[in-house]
Amino acid sequence: MWVASTIDQLREHRRALTGSVALVPTMGALHDGHLMLVDIAKQQADHVIVSIFVNPTQFAPNEDLAQYPRDTEGDLARCRQHAVAGVFMPSVQQMYPDDVQPCTVDVPSLTDGLEGASRPGHFQGVLRVVLKLLNLVGPDVAIFGQKDYQQACVVHQMIADLNLSVQLHVAPTVREPDGLAMSSRNRYLDPPQREHATGIYKALCTARTLIEDDGESDPQVVERAMAQVVQAHHMQLDYAVIRHRRTLTPLDCVEPELTGGVVALIAARMGHTRLLDNMIIAAEQPGSQQP
Ligand code: AMP
Repeated sequence: MWVASTIDQLREHRRALTGSVALVPTMGALHDGHLMLVDIAKQQADHVIVSIFVNPTQFAPNEDLAQYPRDTEGDLARCRQHAVAGVFMPSVQQMYPDDVQPCTVDVPSLTDGLEGASRPGHFQGVLRVVLKLLNLVGPDVAIFGQKDYQQACVVHQMIADLNLSVQLHVAPTVREPDGLAMSSRNRYLDPPQREHATGIYKALCTARTLIEDDGESDPQVVERAMAQVVQAHHMQLDYAVIRHRRTLTPLDCVEPELTGGVVALIAARMGHTRLLDNMIIAAEQPGSQQP
């Protein structure tokens, strides 16, 4: 497995690869969720390239950039175990040289709300780095996780609108046995916080039961029920909403037959740790879990 820390090294390794390539972009501290993306990538292409880059442009000044977990040796060992062809681990200086003026890419209809409202500038940073990585690696397929649902929608639109010649594959969320979505940030949680954090998954399951089993069609009733579950687990709610699964717009009425399913999205804080999760509910086709 090669490891490229500069753009020149990456280009040299990329030129030597024949056959199709799948890219798995990550910020490192790899867990089983990331590794599932790698395993899916292997089914989609001849070679898998993983990028590991804690992208400063997607963090606001008050966020956890400096504390974000890093585990280079562990990450490389996990990539080797999962037969990754190469890892791109650039420095900040490689990705954002001082003499380059930043370019902004945006899909405002999708980035203004939810995470975009809570984290101004976040998606512009995500889109800029994702577009750079796609240009640098030139993959046939890029694998993203459903865990970051709005991100997957936004990247999907960028690829469609800018006619990028890459196929997006969105992989299902990998969870701990008690339902908590795996996340690099889970390691910030102390044991009591970790226990309460399952409230997010329980709230999503509550939404699913209300809509799929009880036929509840008022999104506000479902949203209130989700909020109650999250708050009962001692978390500070940022949002708990039911949205159109593709446009992410609010709905007057939950009509899965019109929208092909809806998405429940939750963001909540447990102490200083911000946790995100989502669930597609009442999908048209069972197993259809992609944005
Ligand atoms: P991150 O390193 O957090 O930026 O995540 C890199 C990629 O892994 C993103 O596409 C995430 O959506 C995805 N990912 C993160 N956690 C999970 C998970 N629990 N299951 C599946 N994919 C995930």
